[in-house]
Amino acid sequence: MLGGPDPDVPAPGRYVLPLVASRRESPSAMTFQFSTAGTGFQYRSNQAIRLALPGVDDPWGAVRTFSLSSSPSEPGMIAVTCKISDTPFKQALSRLHPGETAVVVGPLGHFLLDVGRPTVFLAGGIGITPFRGMLRFATDTGNTVPRRLLYSARVPAELVFRAELDAMVRASPAVQVEYTITRPGESGEAWTGRVGRIDLDWIRATAAPLDRPMFYLAGLPDMVEEMVGLLTGPLGVPEDDIDYEIFRGF
Ligand SMILES: Cc1cc2nc3c(=O)[nH]c(=O)nc-3n(C[C@H](O)[C@H](O)[C@H](O)COP(=O)(O)OP(=O)(O)OC[C@H]3O[C@@H](n4cnc5c(N)ncnc54)[C@H](O)[C@@H]3O)c2cc1C
Repeated sequence: MLGGPDPDVPAPGRYVLPLVASRRESPSAMTFQFSTAGTGFQYRSNQAIRLALPGVDDPWGAVRTFSLSSSPSEPGMIAVTCKISDTPFKQALSRLHPGETAVVVGPLGHFLLDVGRPTVFLAGGIGITPFRGMLRFATDTGNTVPRRLLYSARVPAELVFRAELDAMVRASPAVQVEYTITRPGESGEAWTGRVGRIDLDWIRATAAPLDRPMFYLAGLPDMVEEMVGLLTGPLGVPEDDIDYEIFRGF
């Protein structure tokens, strides 16, 4: 960055943090909560970290980047939520026991919630992670600026955080969440909601009532690139009103 460090985000550091708890969120995803108590770790909603498991023998190295799925309003801990693949890194992470440690470098990045502007979040699959943190932060801090989330997953069971997101909607009139399922045929679970990808008409209808919303996107490269194309092309959204996090590396 030109002009030296950004005064608005905490400087990154290196921390050795113990696992507090892990839990399964969906057939393919788990959340890992690490204690930051007494370490001084601070971050803004919703930055990322690099997480290392020293000693894990993985052809791609023993470190991965993750958005934080926790919120700064949840004191004393950070959490990441990730897809558990069969890579040695992910297998070791899934077997980490409470009290065992990971090396965390962070906080990283500038994927930051603009607390003062209405927001449209577009999440593809595991791309929901930073938006869970942003919505948690907005609701925990009593922020009443409108927040809209359009969240797409392959099958209903892969809608990570669905119960919590629905609870946020019930608790805050500012928050609205809508889901779409892209491969309903792959699921045994009945789904009477929307199917198909997030599309132009849906984004347009969601954004129309909002006063100059910020658009936040997160997911795999194809999804994010397609959504940025819709926003900057047919929807004519200025680039300054769009921010995105691309989950490269799957
Ligand atoms: C900013 C950011 C935020 C992210 N947030 C999340 C999150 O919240 N949750 C989540 O699950 N994931 C997230 N990711 C993706 C995450 O870092 C991992 O890449 C992903 O989880 C896959 O890891 P894996 O071990 O399961 O799989 P793999 O696909 O095996 O990837 C392992 C590593 O190998 C590298 N790799 C794989 N194939 C190649 C290749 N052909 N050439 C070069 N390198 C290769 C990848 O870069 C990756 O680091 C994020 C990524 C970024 C950049």
